[in-house]
Amino acid sequence: MPVGTVGTVKGIPQDLLEELGVNILLGNTYHLYLRPGVETVREMGGLHGFMSWDRAILTDSGGFQVFSLNELRKVNEEGVTFRSHLDGSAHFFSPENSMKAQIGLGADIIMAFDECTEFPADRERMRTSMERTARWAARSKKYFDEHKHGLPWRTTHAGPASVRAGKLQLAAHTAELRSAGRTRATASTQEGATQSLFGIVQGGMDLDLRRESAERTIEIDFPGYAIGGLSVGEPREVTREVVEATLEHLPKDKPRYLMGVGTPQEIATYAGLGVDMMDCVLPTRAARHGLLFTSEGKISIKQARYAKDSGSLDPACACRVCQRYSRAYLRHLYAANEVLAQVLNTIHNLSFYLDTMHTVRHSIRLGEGTRPHSGGSSQPKP
Ligand SMILES: [Zn+2]
Repeated sequence: MPVGTVGTVKGIPQDLLEELGVNILLGNTYHLYLRPGVETVREMGGLHGFMSWDRAILTDSGGFQVFSLNELRKVNEEGVTFRSHLDGSAHFFSPENSMKAQIGLGADIIMAFDECTEFPADRERMRTSMERTARWAARSKKYFDEHKHGLPWRTTHAGPASVRAGKLQLAAHTAELRSAGRTRATASTQEGATQSLFGIVQGGMDLDLRRESAERTIEIDFPGYAIGGLSVGEPREVTREVVEATLEHLPKDKPRYLMGVGTPQEIATYAGLGVDMMDCVLPTRAARHGLLFTSEGKISIKQARYAKDSGSLDPACACRVCQRYSRAYLRHLYAANEVLAQVLNTIHNLSFYLDTMHTVRHSIRLGEGTRPHSGGSSQPKP
């Protein structure tokens, strides 16, 4: 899932995302809640209608962002009080408030409100935090079950885009999941469709706590499960160890979502371990800083060595940027701080990531399992 923080994948218009084959993207509840505000989005037909995106959307719970605001937050059992990074105004997120916001935004998949345990943390802190996440998961589920029919794409008068959204984006995503041979993850396309609420496993870097968190989350019963609290500064080997150990305890017949990873090699590795969904800001954020992923490894396009390089960015990539422009031109745009540099770099990095996942899905269909590989795929897209 490419990350579309405030209702946009920075620099890339929606029709281009469709052309690139993006079937689902992630929106950040914290950012959308602060600006333009949930009520505005709801009145515009939910995030689907507002941003004119008919395909699937997942929103996070806002927990991760709120917990990143170290100086600006206060946590207790009820929830988290925090100050906006925009204007310093005070706000409160709880499992109930997060559900309310995410139902208003109307994404297809929404996430339980969790506490992302900081790293490093001692065992007692990891346990306390994991137990709070379990209680918050139960509260999220309860609120969701009682309010899940208050969706913007079912209950409000909305524009044509959002009317289509209710049908098309679900169809696209279910087709994708069906073709991957999995159970349907999103809400049914039938009448009375609602969102799907996923639970999140925490427990820090402690494998026993991860197992306990998985068991307690499964007991609450969600249609999909996420592994949260990773990529928070721990060594990469530890991330992998925790992922592997946690996956063992999560049902194979439901989507398993690893939050906030990773490099192209890592996403192929995690898919090989059994992860079904991932999101990461890396391809888009790195692109804006001139860092490009290619079949020949990472390229920092700002380097002087590319000033007269007439070759394409990645000879093995079929994207419109690699087909048309030279490294020299991309380097010039970046050096001149042109808006087009960010756009083109982002298009390529997204293509590269999506190609990597195409290859992964292709291998799964062929029954080969997946192997981590050093680069993307030069295969044509299906
Ligand atoms: Zn390319």
